[in-house]
Amino acid sequence: MLQQLSAPLPVAPELVLVTDLDGTLLGGATAERRRFYRWLAQQRERVLHVFCTGRDLRSIARVLREDEPIGLAAPHLVIGDVGCTVACGASLLPLPLAVDPIEARWRALEGRLLPLLADQPGLVLQGVSSNRRLAYDVDLACFDHGLIPRLQAVGAECVLSDSRYFDVLPAGVNKGATLLGLLEALELDPAAVVTAGDSLNDLAMFETGLKGVMVGNAEPALVAQLPRLPGIYRARGEGCAGIAEGLQHFGFAHLFDPPW
Ligand SMILES: [Mg+2]
Repeated sequence: MLQQLSAPLPVAPELVLVTDLDGTLLGGATAERRRFYRWLAQQRERVLHVFCTGRDLRSIARVLREDEPIGLAAPHLVIGDVGCTVACGASLLPLPLAVDPIEARWRALEGRLLPLLADQPGLVLQGVSSNRRLAYDVDLACFDHGLIPRLQAVGAECVLSDSRYFDVLPAGVNKGATLLGLLEALELDPAAVVTAGDSLNDLAMFETGLKGVMVGNAEPALVAQLPRLPGIYRARGEGCAGIAEGLQHFGFAHLFDPPW
């Protein structure tokens, strides 16, 4: 997979930092975000940075453009579409070795899903390109929860997030499974990995057994899962401040000089 990357990765990273975007890497006060992005830019050779987000590649490119003035830089790697896409961070070109198996599963599934999802109350298809998943805005007031087991029965995984997003993916594909596959393909040490997130689509990352930071502004439905997630640190700080706080909790304080 390394050969498919258009930019080199750090040779021996001390930390592999895997961050959700909205509410996490894009969350918190602007001053704290600036400071964290500056720190990340300085640690480029010591910290291998992975975005792990529900956004698709086009939307990730837009975030990078819009937040460049406050210092946000491209990561080394990207997991997008809630785990359905893996791409090089610099070029945002998908990595076929990671994406092709998910694509094959999606092709086998899509035709079975569409009849079940037609004219469902409370679901509006999002304007994002369909990348091995279907992404909807959901109105929970009229959504039929019985739909979820019907979709699962034909081989789909459903993720309700932030009480407003509904994603339908091939079963077993999620942020956590795709991350574990990527770490294995790149032979990265799981002990060096810290994940960070704020909403229910991050739960699969927090269930991997990797170290994780649930930022202070996490959605209540995710916080409710905390008792069964023993390796996960609940930060007080929001967004970027929460990530920095969690990294220090997990023993990476030496990467911050001066201290956060
Ligand atoms: Mg989020």
